[in-house]
Amino acid sequence: MMAADAGAVLETRDSPPSKAPEGSPPKKDKTKFDVVIIGAGPAGYTAGIYCSRAGYDTLILSGILPGGQLVNTTEVENYPGFEKGIMGPDLMIDMRKQCQRMGTTIVDDEVVNTDFRHSPFKVLTATEEYEGRAVIIATGATPRKLGLEGEETFGGRGVSYCATCDGPFFKNQEILVAGGGDSAIEEATFLTKFASTVHIVHRRSELRASKIMQERAFANEKIKFRWDTAISDIKGDQKIQQVVLKNLKTGAEETVPAGALFVAIGHVPNTKLFKGQIELDENGYVVLKERSETSVKGVFAAGDVHDKRYRQAVTAAGYGCSAALDVDKYLTD
Ligand code: NAP
Repeated sequence: MMAADAGAVLETRDSPPSKAPEGSPPKKDKTKFDVVIIGAGPAGYTAGIYCSRAGYDTLILSGILPGGQLVNTTEVENYPGFEKGIMGPDLMIDMRKQCQRMGTTIVDDEVVNTDFRHSPFKVLTATEEYEGRAVIIATGATPRKLGLEGEETFGGRGVSYCATCDGPFFKNQEILVAGGGDSAIEEATFLTKFASTVHIVHRRSELRASKIMQERAFANEKIKFRWDTAISDIKGDQKIQQVVLKNLKTGAEETVPAGALFVAIGHVPNTKLFKGQIELDENGYVVLKERSETSVKGVFAAGDVHDKRYRQAVTAAGYGCSAALDVDKYLTD
């Protein structure tokens, strides 16, 4: 009810905020803000738009890969408002520009430490110490690894976590994709543009992916499936050449040729930085206490960093909006 009231105030405001003009560059010497947002995916940018538009002096520390996971995506078909879809990186560039138009200061730097013991909260990069009366954590999640030694050895030499980034390097090759969720199917489908064959290696006998994605994959002649199978080793010389597959039902191992291995087995929340400062669950996701507020009053979280269920760009954006409205309520009170 309270948040809804705060939202009504923010959303019915149709006059432009009295903030910096469009495209204003960040003031480099400025370190004190009303709101510091850590992370620049859909959640962080949406929070930035709402906080700035509500008149709060807002900083986004975007990290070294502004835009989050969507910059590694091709076409986004399910973000409302784009009848013909939109490329992930384009969507993120537009969100960033929209933030800047509202007056958000964006600094493309990585946060190395935080101090949430009391407000104003401290957020540190390697070279600067920023302060925020409120903080929104929107650091998202990163791809989960298989945990094989070969992933490190052949990282950048055939093992990849981003088909959009690396797919074109593996034309006419046998490509393996590990995973059975939507990401694995999306990556595999994209990779069929380049590969001779894409083999989806999944540890169970049915996919986790949504029905429509499954149907697309089953209909694609270039995609083959290896059910009940794990990847137990990655072999090669200068680059990946073979992968050892283990049938989890029979225990039998088979070495197959592989020009590349794309790992798409989910994500791990980016919360290492906050361990011991706010409550995290057993998988490292931020635990929300009161709406979007974390276990520390005045520190909020939005997006994949707390959401292990939906993990969509549009839900992350929605969470960013909610966090901004909750920040408004907190700072007003
Ligand atoms: P996910 O749904 O969690 O699926 C992860 C897959 O990897 C599962 O099939 C899982 O196997 C497997 N896996 C996990 N750990 C493994 C390990 N150590 N070794 C081998 N396999 C392992 O993750 P996701 O595919 O990244 O999707 C995340 C969310 O984003 C989902 O909600 C999804 O719907 C959404 N998404 C949507 C789209 C789209 O709509 N275009 C695209 C991408 C993602 P089990 O099935 O056995 O658990």
